[in-house]
Amino acid sequence: MTQANTTSTTTAAHASPGHPPVDLRSDTVTRPTPAMYERIAAAPLGDDGLDGDPTARALEAATATLLGKEAGLYVPSATMANLLAILAQAGRQELVLAEAASHIYVTERGAGALTGTFYEGIAGVDGAMDLDRLADALAPGRYKLRTGVVCLESSHNNAGGAVLPLAHMRAVFEASKRVGASVHLDGARLMNAAVALGVPAADITAFTDTVSLCLSKGLSAPMGAVLAGSADTIERARSLRKMLGGSQRQVGVVAAAGLVAVSSMVERLADDHATARRLAQGIGQVRGLAANAPQTNIVQVDVSATGLDAAQWELALRRLGVLVRPWGRQRLRCVTHRHVGEREVDLALEAFAAVAGKDAKAT
Ligand SMILES: *Cc1c(COP(=O)(O)O)cnc(C)c1O
Repeated sequence: MTQANTTSTTTAAHASPGHPPVDLRSDTVTRPTPAMYERIAAAPLGDDGLDGDPTARALEAATATLLGKEAGLYVPSATMANLLAILAQAGRQELVLAEAASHIYVTERGAGALTGTFYEGIAGVDGAMDLDRLADALAPGRYKLRTGVVCLESSHNNAGGAVLPLAHMRAVFEASKRVGASVHLDGARLMNAAVALGVPAADITAFTDTVSLCLSKGLSAPMGAVLAGSADTIERARSLRKMLGGSQRQVGVVAAAGLVAVSSMVERLADDHATARRLAQGIGQVRGLAANAPQTNIVQVDVSATGLDAAQWELALRRLGVLVRPWGRQRLRCVTHRHVGEREVDLALEAFAAVAGKDAKAT
């Protein structure tokens, strides 16, 4: 079966003659599957702003069940799902606590200008907040702001795809509940975490009030995310979604792809994790490079001992047909996904070795 697997945004040379660039920039580059196109063509449609789109409603129900929650809300992006979780559960002048390297804190906290909430980053290790610092931030005090929402992230993007231990999630949930704060899980890659832990996603979300799941990363849908939680919270989020301009009409056209994503694209994430382990091990053999031991599908590469910085590595690899992303000045991020198989890992490793070798000659 032929699969559209090319990138149009790059002028990269081919990793190997006739081979399209090996795209390790993100799992967001994954294309819809043939089954998704079939489901899209057959999807019953309605007006989601009037009496409802049946395919979007089916996706919301299926995802809520998968995530062990009462209700779900289909939204254009995980960013909007996270924003709605905060709007629905925190009042103005309340705190939003999040691990200091989390996506919500690093990338999304400008939303505070809209929500009237204040974001506080809690230092952590491997994506897990320091529980003592969390307790300090949560402790009531005469002049302290009340915490509305505590945010978790698993798998954790900036921590190299690390998965939060369930015991940590339980501890955060219990500490939050003691002061009446809600717990939101940024589960953009939650299914990667569930597959890595070998547990149903609902076992992870049991320690949360709300959870967002991105459908357009490793799950391969072209767009969209689902926010899940209690029926009350999701009803509130549904009217807030309208306010944000996130309510759409015959949205079942893309929700249909999301249904395939949640029903048949989860188990295969284990392949991406195995591919990431192989890539990380291979990179670790290249002189001067060090890589994490990935729990899921994200490989972080430390280039600080090579004499080239991350931007120089990115350019040199791109010239050899391998696309990665600088992740700080001395780090690269490589993400495995459905379009990266053994052949692509081999090509990537050859390119890493070639760039390291060239540097050795130059210095
Ligand atoms: C990608 C990502 C998001 C944002 O998802 P979008 O669908 O691109 O808005 C949020 N959180 C984490 C952890 C992510 O990796």
